[in-house]
Amino acid sequence: MTEVVRTRFAPSPTGYLHIGGVRTALFSWLYARKRGGQFILRIEDTDRERSTDEAIQIILEGMQWLGLDYDEGPFYQSRRYDRYKEIIQQLIDEDHAYYCYCSKAELEIMRETAMARGEKPRYNGRCRHGVENPPDDINPVVRFKNPLEGEVIINDCIQGRVVYQNHELDDLIIARSDGTPTYNLTVAVDDVDMRITHVIRGDDHLNNTPRQMNIFSTLGQTAPVYAHVPLILGEDGKRLSKRHGAVSVLEYREQGYLPQALLNYLVRLGWSHGDQEIFSVDEMIQNFDIENVNKSAAAVNPDKLLWLNQHYLKSSPIESLVEPLSAQLRAIDIDPDAGPDLARLIEVQRERCTTLKLMAADSQIFFRKFDHYDPQAAAKHLTNEAAAVLEALKNHLESVVGWSAPVLHEAVKAVADSLELKLGKVAQPLRVALCGNAISPSIDVTLELLGRDKTLARIIRAIKYIHDHNPA
Ligand code: GLU
Repeated sequence: MTEVVRTRFAPSPTGYLHIGGVRTALFSWLYARKRGGQFILRIEDTDRERSTDEAIQIILEGMQWLGLDYDEGPFYQSRRYDRYKEIIQQLIDEDHAYYCYCSKAELEIMRETAMARGEKPRYNGRCRHGVENPPDDINPVVRFKNPLEGEVIINDCIQGRVVYQNHELDDLIIARSDGTPTYNLTVAVDDVDMRITHVIRGDDHLNNTPRQMNIFSTLGQTAPVYAHVPLILGEDGKRLSKRHGAVSVLEYREQGYLPQALLNYLVRLGWSHGDQEIFSVDEMIQNFDIENVNKSAAAVNPDKLLWLNQHYLKSSPIESLVEPLSAQLRAIDIDPDAGPDLARLIEVQRERCTTLKLMAADSQIFFRKFDHYDPQAAAKHLTNEAAAVLEALKNHLESVVGWSAPVLHEAVKAVADSLELKLGKVAQPLRVALCGNAISPSIDVTLELLGRDKTLARIIRAIKYIHDHNPA
């Protein structure tokens, strides 16, 4: 019988789900999807002090936004304490674990002694063979009896063969003095109970793996296959942090990125398939393989993310962009219903904008009045001569039948012809009148998107401005 692949994403909700975590989740998800397996979400919230509901919400919302759907979960470690207690007790009963009463001061002396001998600071196994008169004023911790000899071999899919000597690993604490389980124990128990076949996680966990593998074999279980993914670095080669810009996955949504762009960007960080840059999700599933992920850390490249985002803005079905653009408009206090048809707006603007946030900012003028004219544009284009041009435009546009870009193009041209002016001499003052500055999509499209009422009101406003600001 072939084994069903089961992978998991197991974030600790102690900080924001950042793109390094998302990339790990994506790799696990792709691995499961490619092999027709299952993907499980497990929230590792045993650190009660540092875990927050907000961080959990970001994980759940982030996964949903990106379309990383899970077949089981979310499971919460904080709801599985009874199970961990049971295993801890079983390990004690089977003599694979023991109570340790050593005080902080004693552990400190052990550390110093080891270091004085030039060894790694480690627990010396003092309580391993039992304590004759256990002090009753100390709540003991529980330690796992790590094998004293032999080695642990990790055949890591990314890192290759990594070997740890058991004598370098000390007896790990699996339950604190208050009885709560520790990280390595809970992960091993969960990976057993959830029948995880492939653990894909950050390489900051590589050191934990031999300990977890020893717990696995003590429980009579085969360890899963491991793949430790290198970290993501900032552009400066330093570990990614807030200094490098967006940290939380949802900040990318706020910044106006599309989920496909972020996924495509992340899959290519440290992984390649020939020289292909654009991957649909189906292509990712087809082509991704964990073995081909680079061993060395990958650095972010914000320009590439922007490039991918614009690619997806241009190629996504317009309907799929309406809601995310509406959200961006609402975020800057614009009612998305108070302006042009959003599908038409997107059609025009997506050629010019790299993110939906910029698209919203750049589209404000179609929804609400701008505060003031750009002084340079006004000085150049809102002149006495322009007043007559605007007057002629107003009269002509008032009666145009069929308010669409081609008709409006002809209308502006007709006004230019009648005044014997070049098109630019008419279009530029009009543009400043409508937008406050000399930058906008083409004038016919700008007119169409603004609609007749806003157009006429803004022309009147500009004529008044000219009269108020220019001596006759
Ligand atoms: N909870 C750990 C973390 O967020 C991951 C543990 C694991 O994947 O085994 O770093």
